[in-house]
Amino acid sequence: MKAVFYEETGSTDVLQYGEFPDPEIGEEELLVDVKAGGLNHLDVWTRRGMPSPREFPHVPGSDAAGVVTEVGDRVSRFEVGDRVAVEPSLSCGDCEFCRSGEQSQCVQFKIKGEHTRGVHSENAAVHEDNLVAVPDHVDFVTAAAVPLVFQTAWRMLVSRAEINQADSVLVLGASGGVGHACVQIAADAGAEVFATASTDEKLEYAREIGADHAINYETEDFVSAIKEATDGRGVDVVVDHVGGATWQDSISATAKGGAVVTCGATTGPNPETDITQIFWKQLDILGSTMGTPGEGDDVLAKVWDGTFEPRIREVLPMSEIVRAHEILQDREGFGKVVVVPDSEYDPDDYER
Ligand code: ZN
Repeated sequence: MKAVFYEETGSTDVLQYGEFPDPEIGEEELLVDVKAGGLNHLDVWTRRGMPSPREFPHVPGSDAAGVVTEVGDRVSRFEVGDRVAVEPSLSCGDCEFCRSGEQSQCVQFKIKGEHTRGVHSENAAVHEDNLVAVPDHVDFVTAAAVPLVFQTAWRMLVSRAEINQADSVLVLGASGGVGHACVQIAADAGAEVFATASTDEKLEYAREIGADHAINYETEDFVSAIKEATDGRGVDVVVDHVGGATWQDSISATAKGGAVVTCGATTGPNPETDITQIFWKQLDILGSTMGTPGEGDDVLAKVWDGTFEPRIREVLPMSEIVRAHEILQDREGFGKVVVVPDSEYDPDDYER
C-alpha cells in the first residue's frame, strides 16, 4: 500500500508518500480502507519532533474515515463494509481515570498518529474502540475532518468550562480547527461569542459560523476590544490554545469569576502570568486534552445531524502532503485540511 511516512523528524522535507508495508490487524482490530485523512496541528508538532514518535518510519495522522475491509476475530461492533471514522484517543481502560469515565486523563494516555502509527495511509489497522460509525449521508472528507478538533472543543467548553446561554465566550484563533469548532459549539449553547482572527476574510467566516463579535488581532488589541464591548467587564470564558503570545491578555480579558480554558500552547509554554489577577478576579484556569468516548459521541451526533459543520479549506492528494503541512504551519485560510489517497483522488469531487 501507499502511505505518508517519515524516517526522522524535521522540516516538511522529511515527509514522503510511497510504498509502505500493509498493516496487519490484531484480534480486536479492523482494517480500514482509508478514503480521507484530516490534518491537525498535532501532525506538524509531531513531525517536528515535539514530541518525537517512538518508532521510525512513522506514519502520521490522527483523523481518518473510510470503509472496513477486514475484522479481527474478537471484533463485535463492526463488520466488513461499515463506514467508519477514527477516534484517535488511546487509553489503558484500567487506571483510576479510565474506570471513572475520564479516559482522556488516563495515566497512559496516547494519541494515535502522535505516539503510535497514524492513519494517513491507504489502509490502517484500528482498534474497535477507536472507531465510530459514519452515517451514509455524511461524506468521508467531512467525517475525517471532525473527530479530534470537535471532541477537543466540546470537552473544553461543555465539560470543563460548563458554558451556558448566559455566558460570553471569547475564542482566540477562530480560524483554526479547534477554534472554528469552539465558535460553533459556543453559539449552539446560546452564548455570546467573541472571536479573534488575523484577516477580515477569516473574521467574515467566523461571523458566518456563529460569532457575534469578530476582532482582528493584527490591527486591534483584543483586550481593549473586549473591554469596550462589555463595558469593562470582560468575558466569562476565554478559549486559549495559542499559549505564550496571548496568555496574559486572556487572563486580562476574563471577567471576575470567569475561566480561561487551554488545550495547547502553539506559541510557547512558559508565558509570564500576573497571579494577582487570578486571585483578585477569582478565575478558574482549566486545562483540557482531547475528549472521552462519551464526549466524542455527543459532539459527533451533532455533526452528523448538521448542527455543526467542519469548514474544509482544502482537499489534497496524499502525495501533496508537504503542501498540506505547509497550509497548517503557515496558518493559511480557515478550517480543516484533508488528504485523500492518490488512488481515490478526483479533484472534481472537492471543488469549493
Ligand atoms: Zn487509563
